[in-house]
Amino acid sequence: MAPFLPDDLAATLRAAPRTWLVTGAAGFIGSHLVEGLLYAGQTVRGLDNLSTGRMENVEAVRDVAPERYTFAEADLRSLDACRDACAGVDVVLHQAALGSVPRSVADPLATHTNNVDGTLNVLVAARDAGVSRVVFASSSSVYGDHPALPKVEANVGTPLSPYAVSKRTGELYARTFWDHYGLSTVGLRYFNVFGARQDPDGPYAAVLPKWIATLVAGEAPTVYGDGETSRDFCYVANVVQANLRAALAGPEVSGRVFNVAVGDRTTLRELYAAVAEGLVAAGVIDSVPALKTADFRPGDIRHSLADTSAARAAFGYSPTHRVADGLREALAWYVASLARPAAVG
Ligand code: NAD
Repeated sequence: MAPFLPDDLAATLRAAPRTWLVTGAAGFIGSHLVEGLLYAGQTVRGLDNLSTGRMENVEAVRDVAPERYTFAEADLRSLDACRDACAGVDVVLHQAALGSVPRSVADPLATHTNNVDGTLNVLVAARDAGVSRVVFASSSSVYGDHPALPKVEANVGTPLSPYAVSKRTGELYARTFWDHYGLSTVGLRYFNVFGARQDPDGPYAAVLPKWIATLVAGEAPTVYGDGETSRDFCYVANVVQANLRAALAGPEVSGRVFNVAVGDRTTLRELYAAVAEGLVAAGVIDSVPALKTADFRPGDIRHSLADTSAARAAFGYSPTHRVADGLREALAWYVASLARPAAVG
């Protein structure tokens, strides 16, 4: 599937090819970034320790331009590995992290070492290698207990999980590397991202692929809470666009953080109806089973909705896919991948 990049962005990239390091390249978002960059004529180095990522995600995008893509299995917790990866690189898109709020509550040390130590190593290595910009994957979880909706970048509350602490800490380190060393950094606070190649397996899988895998297995999915929890679900093409526009923007974005979402609020019940009805329409399941409910999970935020005006103003971010558009593309991929047994659970 060809990655969706706005024409102006692809043309700008092609006019001045660069060398990019994508950390987390075997993961969901990282693999889409690699695909978009290769498609737009860039040279890409991918790095991943394959802890939650998969080689099949690397293979899925390598064919776009195998001569311009190298992949290294390496761990960001090693500063030497980060130095090797950053040598000769123009831009770093730092995506590697251990995701999931519940995982971080269960094992805060693993979240800290991968997300905080790993990010600090990337920043040190990028600074010393003379990288021109580091774009860092942060998260809407940094808004924590701040009640305001929509979320505006300046108003963060107390983080509600070790994962949120790790992302906020990464933002602060990125900011301080701009202040002290002149390493240009930009933090992007992703709201719930979805799309092809998102892992459906394991206890910490994101809701959409998990529900699809459960429905395809003929079972009823579980929702935590009453189903009225809401999120600003963001299709992965929008996240790719935000990263690449932030990477190319002028120095005025340095040291700042920006929301990346669509500005649409969808409850989990609404999302479930759209997904299940989409699978019925595609002939994958016969009917829509009732959702099972379970207790709210500790650390989860009740409602999340982004104000994206800062990213729009600073680097021309303009989401191309609203939730329904993204769901259509994502479901098409999941349905097609049913013919390839390894791709869905
Ligand atoms: P993912 O798990 O699919 O990808 C993360 C990748 O990082 C994996 O391939 C994993 O193997 C790799 N990794 C983890 N620790 C590493 C280490 N120490 N060294 C090298 N590689 C390592 O997750 P994703 O959904 O693609 O998320 C990408 C980034 O976006 C993460 O930083 C995540 O916290 C952030 N984010 C994601 C979402 C979302 O909804 N998916 C929302 C907010 C923020």
